[in-house]
Amino acid sequence: RNRAALGTPKVPNVKWEDVGGLEEVKKVILDTIQHWKLTSILGDIDPFFYLIFQLPLMYKHLFSSKLRKRSGVLLYGPPGTGKTLLAKAVATECSLNFLSVKGPELINMYVGESEKNVRDIFEKARSARPCVIFFDELDSLAPARGSSADSGGVMDRVVSQLLVEIDGLSDNSQDLFIIGATNRPDLLDSALLRPGRFDKLLYIGVNTDASYRERILKAQTRKYKLHKNVSLLSVAQRCPPNFTGADIYALCADAWFHAAKRSVKTFETDSSKNDDASAEQVIVEIDDFMT
Ligand code: ATP
Repeated sequence: RNRAALGTPKVPNVKWEDVGGLEEVKKVILDTIQHWKLTSILGDIDPFFYLIFQLPLMYKHLFSSKLRKRSGVLLYGPPGTGKTLLAKAVATECSLNFLSVKGPELINMYVGESEKNVRDIFEKARSARPCVIFFDELDSLAPARGSSADSGGVMDRVVSQLLVEIDGLSDNSQDLFIIGATNRPDLLDSALLRPGRFDKLLYIGVNTDASYRERILKAQTRKYKLHKNVSLLSVAQRCPPNFTGADIYALCADAWFHAAKRSVKTFETDSSKNDDASAEQVIVEIDDFMT
């Protein structure tokens, strides 16, 4: 029986510099994780301990009844805008292991297997704490209950199982954080969005400002050797305003490919440079972006 093949959770290698134009969203996620870490620590300590030792007034708000553990955030918006990339960058930055699952991968035709897959994921993440579980295409894993046409209510049971697991996270000893991503938040079972679950919704859309595209271009070409005449702002200004991060990725990959072809040609025709390793160096020029 084909169980969902889960990778081994590990800290990703996506640097913050690899993500362009999402500074605000990043800040909100980091704040939420900070809050999550704090409640994880405090959960193990008896508040009376603090009361007896008369914690300074400044910490008083930590014990207010409003304090509740946040388990996760939901990133929503059109495809290719950097939701996956952002989740990985946050995990890298916070040194958290990262376990990524695509909703449809977990759905199995055999009775009971899909729920088991959901349990397995959380089990796997628990064994790699502290860990972020990233649920991509969450809508296909957790559609509104009663809406699926499947026989036997498989999807409804998957959603219930997911809720059980997520609620288990509010047991403060569990160092797990969840990030969901979806293009269609309207399809999700609303119980997922209740407090303590995916209770922070963050929209990641396409910003039509050229400066936003410029920041993405900068992130994408971070490791390129750009010709000194290349102005990323002018490249950004020539892109269609609805260009997503994924479109910009394709543009940059093409530009690099053009430049690489050119440098191979130079290398082949100019035999005097044969011994010189730098002859192979790929320098991306402004025209490479424009073709
Ligand atoms: P989907 O909804 O299709 O899963 P997504 O929003 O998760 O899309 P990503 O998979 O993160 O999109 O983005 C695809 C690729 O596009 C990334 O690997 C990256 O190369 C590029 N990209 C997208 N957004 C950005 C960004 N803000 N900064 C830099 N690169 C980006």
